[in-house]
Amino acid sequence: MGKNEPKGKNISQLQLENRSTLLKLLRSNKHIWRKDLAEMSGLTGAAVTYLIRDLIEVGLVSEDREYTGPRSKNAIPLKINYERFLVIGVSIRRGRISRAVADLSGKIITSDSIRFDLTESAERVMDALVKLISEYIADYGHVGGIVGIGLSVPGPINLERGEISYLTNLPGWKAIPIRRYLEERFDIPVMMDEDANAAALAEKWLGSGRNHKNLISILVGKGVGAGVIMGGHIYHGAFGLAGEIGHMSINFEGPLCECGNKGCLELYASTLALMRRAEARYGIKGDFQTFRKQVAQGHDGLEQMVIDAGRHLGYGITNLVYAFNPELVALHGDMTLFGPLWLENVRGAVAERLPADISSNLRIEVSTLPDPVLLGTVAMVCEHLFENPVLTSFTSPVTVDTVNFSS
Ligand SMILES: [Zn+2]
Repeated sequence: MGKNEPKGKNISQLQLENRSTLLKLLRSNKHIWRKDLAEMSGLTGAAVTYLIRDLIEVGLVSEDREYTGPRSKNAIPLKINYERFLVIGVSIRRGRISRAVADLSGKIITSDSIRFDLTESAERVMDALVKLISEYIADYGHVGGIVGIGLSVPGPINLERGEISYLTNLPGWKAIPIRRYLEERFDIPVMMDEDANAAALAEKWLGSGRNHKNLISILVGKGVGAGVIMGGHIYHGAFGLAGEIGHMSINFEGPLCECGNKGCLELYASTLALMRRAEARYGIKGDFQTFRKQVAQGHDGLEQMVIDAGRHLGYGITNLVYAFNPELVALHGDMTLFGPLWLENVRGAVAERLPADISSNLRIEVSTLPDPVLLGTVAMVCEHLFENPVLTSFTSPVTVDTVNFSS
């Protein structure tokens, strides 16, 4: 039987789904009672009582005895104990590894970044990862139970196998089974995804996408990539290619791209494209900061280039709106540093090209999250635990004593 064939659901699966439904209701309603949960979920009062008892037993939910509001005389409301459980998020990027400890609400308790040379062997990088995660387990394991690890990588990845497929220009990184490597050592759920998808999840859990089920988060830096959330979930596509919008053509007769396509969005809207043009036209060399400084000093030609880059991103977003019809497009990455000069032109190009009733209901905003990719590593664990709230996930957190260094 193929894996996409419809399947029946046994009792334990149904129970898991009902528990997930209740947790999501608890998360989106500050004061909520068992009676409300029954009404909102459609479950019987008895079922709610039974499911909540399990959640209280593992410490994830408790009765909010401090509540003194109008309904306090009759019954005690319920709340999620976000701070009792912690997750560790790690983001592997070219040149650095960032890590964070956060509670289940996504509140970061601590985070830092370590410079790291990915030209080292993948084995050495993974050993370093284990050390970085273990340090946090030793330092924060007493603050709350550490119940999951989230990991983001530049991609591409094989999601099913939990592997980094390869990293461009780094021959030592091929089919690296990083998820299993971490699972064997820490024995808690390890979730992984690509940077752009991590950022999209952060937007949905912690950012301006909190109340949206359909949103697209676009990283506009050296390249252009997107994380697409449809119906509340990351859309990966059949081969994990969904969201690689940097190679979506916005000019079918445009210049040839490394990927084989012509006129790719990335060739018009990325910082690399911008700097290549600045060098070709004005002989401006240097890094992105040098370029930004010149724009800030009011170089007319460069300002026009930023405007053009923004407009081209807008053409790309217009195509995405027709493909996915999101309510929100959240932007992050170095290009957002150009502020309104850039953003207004992104918005302007979209508004010109979409029907007014669509564009007036579409929000295009710069992300307010400090580091969407790192926050996304935390969000992917929260998402996993709220979607699949297996009780043992909360009763057997990893501690320094349970880490298996010898796997
Ligand atoms: Zn391309």
